[in-house]
Amino acid sequence: MGLTSIRAVSSLEQELESRLLEIRDSGLWRELRQVDSPAGPRLVLAGRPLLNLSSNDYLGLARHPELLEAAAKAVADFGAGSGASRLISGSLAPHHRLEGCLAEFKRCEAALSFSSGYSAALGTITAMLGTDDVVILDKRVHACCVDAARLSGAKLRVFAHNDLNDLEDILRWANARNPPSGPTARGHVLIVTESVFSMDGDLAPLREMVELKNRHGAWLMLDEAHALGVLGPSRRGLAEQLGVADQVDIYLGTLGKAAGAAGGFVAGSRRLVDYLVNRARSFIFSTAPVPAAAAAAEAGIRLIAGDEGARRNARLWHNVRGLADEMKARDLAANAPASAIVPLVVGDEATAVNLSARLREHGIFVPAIRFPTVARGAARLRLTATADHEPTELRNFVDVLRHLTDFP
Ligand SMILES: *Cc1c(COP(=O)(O)O)cnc(C)c1O
Repeated sequence: MGLTSIRAVSSLEQELESRLLEIRDSGLWRELRQVDSPAGPRLVLAGRPLLNLSSNDYLGLARHPELLEAAAKAVADFGAGSGASRLISGSLAPHHRLEGCLAEFKRCEAALSFSSGYSAALGTITAMLGTDDVVILDKRVHACCVDAARLSGAKLRVFAHNDLNDLEDILRWANARNPPSGPTARGHVLIVTESVFSMDGDLAPLREMVELKNRHGAWLMLDEAHALGVLGPSRRGLAEQLGVADQVDIYLGTLGKAAGAAGGFVAGSRRLVDYLVNRARSFIFSTAPVPAAAAAAEAGIRLIAGDEGARRNARLWHNVRGLADEMKARDLAANAPASAIVPLVVGDEATAVNLSARLREHGIFVPAIRFPTVARGAARLRLTATADHEPTELRNFVDVLRHLTDFP
């Protein structure tokens, strides 16, 4: 008995050792770094203050007094934990208030909150689709939608990034194929894309995609993770910006980025939400998010929707444009930014890691993004500006970057 279990452990350890070596050897080693300060434009790492150009807290709400107060009040009124899943006894008032606020903000009939954007994607796509259906993903959608699509059992097709011709070819194929479950039944087709692509910062051609999905009778799910608070006249996202907000069937969002808190949500019709409450397994079989998170997220959405959100959004864009202009002036990046994400593609994994380390020596924190987050050989620095950065510190960053690189 004893010997068997020792052997089992050591073979596990050997296996892990060889897998870890492989990760190290390919320059893809990752490890956690302890941050000793709150989320913000500056952070403290290993006792050192650094300029932080990696935060998704675009509007600087994560430390906003109204979010802190809402979270503290929710703890006082509803406790630290929710005690059960939403369908048992964990569906607390802060969750319901958040969902009402989200539905109003997204101008949808209803919304449902999840413990993360990841679990919202997982629960929703697997509830919507089965083996008779087809799911069509943009090549660069977030891992949560890829994982959900795989888990759903639907036929998975990927179209080249933002390529409408490729998407239309797949839609034609999906509609022409013989459904396995009989001559009259036709499998459903779901297109999944992102408003703002999380590692490139570019936008989906949403108007054209809406036209295509209508013409081919497909459903459209839009992940607005990096667009909420950033794009659109009322900061509701890309669909609002492009005037097609009422054409999207299923909205996916996170409360952990511009909203300054944590959690994920789906917004859409009342029927959609009723159905997900009954069928989304990541919602049903998971303890309700802590009341503090729901209350902080509600405060964040309310701020985004109001005058302060407008002012912070204007500051964010001033900083993003300033950063991009400065980089362009120093021959470091070409494109005008479409979002708060400014990628500096380096290519080689080791070069990106090295550049990131040298920036850190100069007091600037920008992690290198590598495979599998982006394609192999497409390693990059992913820069994000926020409303709370000082324009001078962004200019200083570009000076240092220019000094450290020999990119043309
Ligand atoms: C961050 C992110 C998610 C996941 O949201 P979490 O709340 O962090 O789980 C989903 N989609 C995209 C595009 C994201 O960037």
